[in-house]
Amino acid sequence: MNTQDIFALEQKYEMNLYPKRGIALARGEGEFVWDSDGKRYIDCTTGVGVAILGHAHPAVVGAVERQANTLMTCYQPFFHEERGKLERGLAGLFGGNARVMLSNSGTEAMEAAIKLARRHTGRKGFVAAMNAFHGRSTGALSLTYKEKYRAPFEPLLSPVTRVRFNDSEALKSAVTNETAALVLETIQGEGGVRPASTEYIRAARDICTDRGALFVLDEIQTGCGRTGKFFSFEHFGVQPDIACLAKGLGGGVPIGATIARQEVASFTPLEHGSTFGGNPLASAAANAVLQTIEREGLLAKVSENGAHFMQKLQAVLEAKAQLREIRGMGMMVAVELKVPSKEPLSSMAQGGVLALPAGEQVVRFLPPFIISRSSIDAAAEALAGAVL
Ligand SMILES: *Cc1c(COP(=O)(O)O)cnc(C)c1O
Repeated sequence: MNTQDIFALEQKYEMNLYPKRGIALARGEGEFVWDSDGKRYIDCTTGVGVAILGHAHPAVVGAVERQANTLMTCYQPFFHEERGKLERGLAGLFGGNARVMLSNSGTEAMEAAIKLARRHTGRKGFVAAMNAFHGRSTGALSLTYKEKYRAPFEPLLSPVTRVRFNDSEALKSAVTNETAALVLETIQGEGGVRPASTEYIRAARDICTDRGALFVLDEIQTGCGRTGKFFSFEHFGVQPDIACLAKGLGGGVPIGATIARQEVASFTPLEHGSTFGGNPLASAAANAVLQTIEREGLLAKVSENGAHFMQKLQAVLEAKAQLREIRGMGMMVAVELKVPSKEPLSSMAQGGVLALPAGEQVVRFLPPFIISRSSIDAAAEALAGAVL
């Protein structure tokens, strides 16, 4: 099928949900993807931080191939080795005694956290931050900030109190003894790659403990090593009650996880569940991802190469009039411009580099952890070539 025919198909049959970018991807390998005309790109989108080991990584491909040939689905009441190993791995990384619920996406991981917070505390209220993004199913959507995403679907979950991000004082009055949970991202991803301060995350932890509310961290974008630690909360020296993962966890295979301290994991049988959650196929892929991160020392690589990326961006963008700020942590890197990011993104794509928006004026890079220095440099130079 030629490229125009592929465009026409989706334009005709897909619900009008996504602002399409005029590229049809055909295959990927490592940090590269190729479009339907055979043009190669450096992929700093990775399906929004999904393909953390790059595309077609042999460990993930091998695990999926083996598991697909063996058993893909396993009714939850039956035990399965891959699921058990993944739960053990995630609980260990979370720290302390922890329990895991596996699902299929980020928003589902959040739904489980929301239900668990109400279940455990017997309280109804939630506190979330301005510019937060937590997903699009109605529970998670209730905590998402953007009015445009929420308004058509009200009434949603309530009560939800929205606080200014990075404002510890605001938390003191917003989190009360009627709050089930405070839900935060350590770095707001969709909100423009805005990192929380250490002081803020520590204050959030203390206030939750003081008020008997659960502290939930949405690590869907920041987790699985994206910032150079497996969970970004490790940078802040805090332990949340619940953390949510998804995006990179399956290396491309859909999977979500909600991980809770043993003491707050208060669901009783069948109060929550998922048909597909943690099926052997997804669990095998996620186990391969965790093993590869460990075996190849990828967390250190994310830190080193992420720092290099930021320095390189600094060097090539320093003199640009349109530069506002460079932000990030590990391989979650963004450049805020003084102009809309749409045109620079499309001119970078023409030059063979794919990156993401994060709000109107931000160019966001979520490269795979295995990206080479030369591709990092090329990505930074592509942006420099696209702005004044
Ligand atoms: C992507 C994302 C979600 C939603 O994940 P889906 O898999 O799209 O449902 C939630 N929170 C954050 C921080 C995300 O980046």
